[in-house]
Amino acid sequence: MKLYVATHNQHKLREIAEILPEFEIIGDNPSGVEETSEEFIGNAFIKVRAIASKHPGEWCMADDSGLEVNALGGAPGVRSARYAGRDGDTPANNALLLKNLEGATDRAANFTCAIALIDPDGREHSAIGKSFGKIAEKPSGIEGFGYDPLFIPENYFRSFAELSAGEKNAISHRGRALEKAREIIRSIKKPSVKSWLRLFRFVNIPTVPGDVLVGAAAAVTALGTEIYSPKKLIASIFASVFFYLFGLVDNDIVGAKSDENRPIPDGEISLLSARIVRGVFWALPILIGYLFNLSKVWWVVAFTLFLSIIIYNRTKRPLVMGLCRALNVLSGVAVCMKGFSISSSRLFVLAGIVSAVSFIYVSYLTYYASDENKNPSKKPFVRLLIAMIVYLQLLMLVGFAVVFPMTEPMRHMLFTGAVLLISLRVLKMLMRDVSAT
Ligand code: IMP
Repeated sequence: MKLYVATHNQHKLREIAEILPEFEIIGDNPSGVEETSEEFIGNAFIKVRAIASKHPGEWCMADDSGLEVNALGGAPGVRSARYAGRDGDTPANNALLLKNLEGATDRAANFTCAIALIDPDGREHSAIGKSFGKIAEKPSGIEGFGYDPLFIPENYFRSFAELSAGEKNAISHRGRALEKAREIIRSIKKPSVKSWLRLFRFVNIPTVPGDVLVGAAAAVTALGTEIYSPKKLIASIFASVFFYLFGLVDNDIVGAKSDENRPIPDGEISLLSARIVRGVFWALPILIGYLFNLSKVWWVVAFTLFLSIIIYNRTKRPLVMGLCRALNVLSGVAVCMKGFSISSSRLFVLAGIVSAVSFIYVSYLTYYASDENKNPSKKPFVRLLIAMIVYLQLLMLVGFAVVFPMTEPMRHMLFTGAVLLISLRVLKMLMRDVSAT
């Protein structure tokens, strides 16, 4: 993972790379910024903000550090680098510090390192690390940089400049602050396959094709088997699944701030990547409709479904969710229709019945589940109602097969319905922890 660090100081970059070996540390000089804050953390944010706009979607970091000497009222503090006047003039800085401490008995001091972080979603985080010790009477050691030859850390008789890089990093202000920064970065977890499956509520996907199958079964029963095209039916099933995934990702993006226990607010998946994936799932049904030359009626239903999904995610009205699933059923009807005219009254009745069943069932389910987070005792029944969707779909398919003469397309659809039911059960068993409702 890349970590852009706002500094041109090669010493700092090397220390950061040693302490955070798991990151690819890339230095980026925040040119032209003025460190006007009287606090380390304020200056760190000035620097990190100056580079963050150049690296959208990436982690950016800046540190500001310095030495605070008790006898000097906390000086040189934020002016550590330019204590003697010229920025980065280490010999002059060290000489001035020794001069100002001449005869002082209290030589206690501490290094402070403030780290400002900007995560891939633009959120800001901070971490502070301190290292306590005292200022020596004269410099010793050649390692490190800046005030290192003058700083004797607590419980040591050697200066920072006499310690190896590993020894210094283990106790230094920067080592401690970076350790905290690492924890922050870790807590904004990297997306894993499981996070994405959780985002997609993967185990519920088999409930989607059943709607389309039921709609197609109504159409085939009313209009005859010649209108049945397995290729187009499968294409519309995939389109529906992608619409469903579009809806789920959109839902989690809308609720990114308010939802609990979901991969985006948990920081597992960044908003940016969720938005990209949402765009892909929006484009896929359009591509499928175009490539498989799906009927004009299908396009109208698909567009209405798309609008309903958007409205549901922003209003959370159970009836709109019911409408989404009814439209999903109608997309199965639509894929079998050539023109808009509903010449067969049987089609009108059958399509009406199956889409109404779906509408009522899902509206009720959504209404019942609307406060399940406040009322966890409802969860098992909600799960049962969701699992029952596939049984209901299968029941309707069986109903068609029993009431009307059995045809080849009906056999296909029944078989597919049964496969969906079994896959739902197997997925639920295998992936209990991602089966969020
Ligand atoms: P910054 O680059 O604005 O953070 O300036 C910090 C200044 O504080 C450096 O130029 C050093 O003089 C001093 N400083 C910060 N960290 C250390 C350290 O680990 N050893 C020695 N001097 C340090």
